[in-house]
Amino acid sequence: MINSLNEPETLIKNADHILTMNDSREELRGADVLVKGNVIKAIGHNLEGAGKVLDARGCVVTPGLVNTHNHLFQTLTRAVPGGQDALLFGWLQTLYPIWARFGPEEMFVSAQVGLAELALSGCTMSSDHLYLYPNGARLDDTIEAAKTVGLRFHPTRGAMSIGESDGGLPPDSLVEREAAILEDCIRVIDAHHDAREGAMVRVGVAPCSPFSVSRELMRDAAILARDKGVMLHTHLAENEEDIAYSLEKFGCRPGQYAEDLGWTGSDVWHAHCVKLDGQEIDLFARSGTGVAHCPCSNCRLGSGIAPVRKMRDRGVNVGLGVDGSASNDAGNLMLEARQSMLLQRVASGADAMSAREALEIATRGGAEVLGRPDCGQLSVGKQADIAVWDVSGVDTAGSWDPAALLLAGPNKVKELFVQGRHIVQDGQMPHLDLRSIIGQQNALAKKLMEG
Ligand SMILES: [Zn+2]
Repeated sequence: MINSLNEPETLIKNADHILTMNDSREELRGADVLVKGNVIKAIGHNLEGAGKVLDARGCVVTPGLVNTHNHLFQTLTRAVPGGQDALLFGWLQTLYPIWARFGPEEMFVSAQVGLAELALSGCTMSSDHLYLYPNGARLDDTIEAAKTVGLRFHPTRGAMSIGESDGGLPPDSLVEREAAILEDCIRVIDAHHDAREGAMVRVGVAPCSPFSVSRELMRDAAILARDKGVMLHTHLAENEEDIAYSLEKFGCRPGQYAEDLGWTGSDVWHAHCVKLDGQEIDLFARSGTGVAHCPCSNCRLGSGIAPVRKMRDRGVNVGLGVDGSASNDAGNLMLEARQSMLLQRVASGADAMSAREALEIATRGGAEVLGRPDCGQLSVGKQADIAVWDVSGVDTAGSWDPAALLLAGPNKVKELFVQGRHIVQDGQMPHLDLRSIIGQQNALAKKLMEG
């Protein structure tokens, strides 16, 4: 991005703590961040700026959080009765017929709601995985929604091609022809993908999961993504049913299947990976393959505890994902970071993950998984994606350390900057009529409920 002399400056002044997540994980007390245009111009004490000044006394400043796995359309199917207590496959079979009634309006409004919810929880960059396109819905619907909210967006063109009549899980009405899927991947990449530093939209290619597309589509998707220079994403090794399916249908574990079809590398990230074994973790570490860890969804669907401690120790890139709101059902990324810390402690003891490490996974970790070294940390020259947390309230009163952000709260952000743009101001989003969007969302949900 070009930096002209006339670009506006914002000075975030006198923050109680700044957690930079830079290479030395530096933390500053009583310090300032100066933003100029899209990027961070300076971090330090007693800075001066020529523009707006934001008083950050009583606040902790962190990089904006990064969400590496979501299905935004699912904000319209939170807490659906038949899906509240089911395992993954049964849960999907309850929801597929409801999702089959979605169209462009449902995709647009549900994405606005999901992204606004994420922004208010401190998220500045989100990926999305849209894998069904009923009734004229397109990936473009969610990209338009992201523009209205103002988040940095990595939508992925998902797909399902093996319907019930071919032995797959989804109903035939929700699957597409594989040639049409690949064609539409090319269309959305050409129309929306921006490879430049500072990009606001990057498109990925993302067949839904090994149990809903063919081996050929997995392989062709990898070839296409590499040809276009975009990233690959899917669900992998989510629970025991998923492993059993892989062994039965493909004769191998998911890691082997992924490797055989070109689905490892630093341009690939897999959601969940709850059931990766030691060899698969080593494969991911060796190949630079990333993981989107979704602890709340894993708890909600009873999938298990992902071996995040082991992954991190062996050098796997791990980011956080809230996953879709049909399996979370919240889209609060700060709560997700807290959950990731708690869950590793349940599995491996109180020293298994610190609050600071969870916050690092939620920021820098996610940016690395999404191939965004220009984001995820507060350093001079990096993108100005910044979260300001008010720690002067009742939830943090009496805390001794900025780790209170995860250990206590708050889990909603006070101020949020994306690419230097101030999109959350004192806990509100003045550029969005959120009340009216929520009204539209509830009307659409009601229509779906009434069938
Ligand atoms: Zn998912």
